[in-house]
Amino acid sequence: FEPWNDPDAKPYIRFDGVTKKFGDFVAVDDLTLHIYHREFFALLGGSGCGKSTLLRMLAGFESTSEGSITLDGENMAGIPPYRRPVNMMFQSYALFPHMSVEKNIAFGLKQDGMARSEIDDRVQSMLKLVKLEQFGKRKPHQLSGGQRQRVALARSIAKRPKVLLLDEPLGALDKKLREETQFELMDLQQDLGLTFVVVTHDQEEAMTMADRIAVMNYGRIIQIATPAEIYEAPNSRFVADFIGDVNIFDGTVVSADPTGTELDIGGGIALRSDNQTNVKAGGKASLVIRPEKIRVSREKPADTANAMSGEMWDIAYLGDMTVYHIKLESGQIVKASSLNAVRIVADPFTYDDRMWVSFDTDGGVILGEE
Ligand code: ATP
Repeated sequence: FEPWNDPDAKPYIRFDGVTKKFGDFVAVDDLTLHIYHREFFALLGGSGCGKSTLLRMLAGFESTSEGSITLDGENMAGIPPYRRPVNMMFQSYALFPHMSVEKNIAFGLKQDGMARSEIDDRVQSMLKLVKLEQFGKRKPHQLSGGQRQRVALARSIAKRPKVLLLDEPLGALDKKLREETQFELMDLQQDLGLTFVVVTHDQEEAMTMADRIAVMNYGRIIQIATPAEIYEAPNSRFVADFIGDVNIFDGTVVSADPTGTELDIGGGIALRSDNQTNVKAGGKASLVIRPEKIRVSREKPADTANAMSGEMWDIAYLGDMTVYHIKLESGQIVKASSLNAVRIVADPFTYDDRMWVSFDTDGGVILGEE
């Protein structure tokens, strides 16, 4: 499923040159974004980056200042929310407290004037879908947070919108329930064949659920790509830093050619990467590498281009893995993580040990000065 790589595939949702201003403040800045039918798309970014505003414009709760939004070939300008084939599920998932679960789910259908028997059927099928068949008669306060969240979900898809917009849908759930619900949402989206656009500030959530992620900052999209591309090949320091843990080595480009890039990071250390970019010798650049790509050893590794010595600074045992912080001669702390695939009784390293960190030339990416 990669319609974005198919030149013949038509986008289902189009933002073209969309700007949103509140007074002088630009919340969304000349943004172009195309989302495909049946895609699970995530808008990811920090607080205030404009992701909710983007969703609200698509839902019709907010007008655009410039640009156009098209849904399934139809320009949405001037079309009120209730006439858009879109439904929105909010962070607080405000259920009506005095109504039963069934009545909550039926509410929108009733407003639309659907026949009673049809409503009953639809409500039952929705309850089944979110695995709450036994809970139809309960009031929201008689449910757990996760169950309430599923009722809200059932309510928001009861009208069978073509697109479901989810604004921080799992924000109120604890970690374990969040993770479970992420998989349920993915299954549901697949089963129903809907297009989901989710807003989140949680990178793990976006990585888990989405086919593609748009990373936003200051009303602009910094990168749009699959979770793997975003993680393995961030296009900027911002994205590298925002998604997961990362080590960034700043330096001056010694050489850059089709075989790769060499970077002088000071202290007589040159790092090599196979990654070729548009950096030029003499310019500033950074080598960006994830902690799990870094090895730690007591002896200097014989066969690697990139090795630096330091001392063990911190050791954090996290169960599935151990995270090491190694302080280099330069004072920079390098983060390295090692998967505990076999049971470790005692860590092989201790604080203050003289250490080497090393990584392969295909491990990182080079980013030019921004
Ligand atoms: P969060 O995760 O905190 O909700 P967000 O990325 O969803 O952040 P938005 O809600 O889209 O952010 O808001 C983007 C910017 O626009 C913010 O700086 C916000 O203060 C501003 N903004 C949003 N709505 C209005 C409004 N009605 N009037 C003025 N400014 C607004």
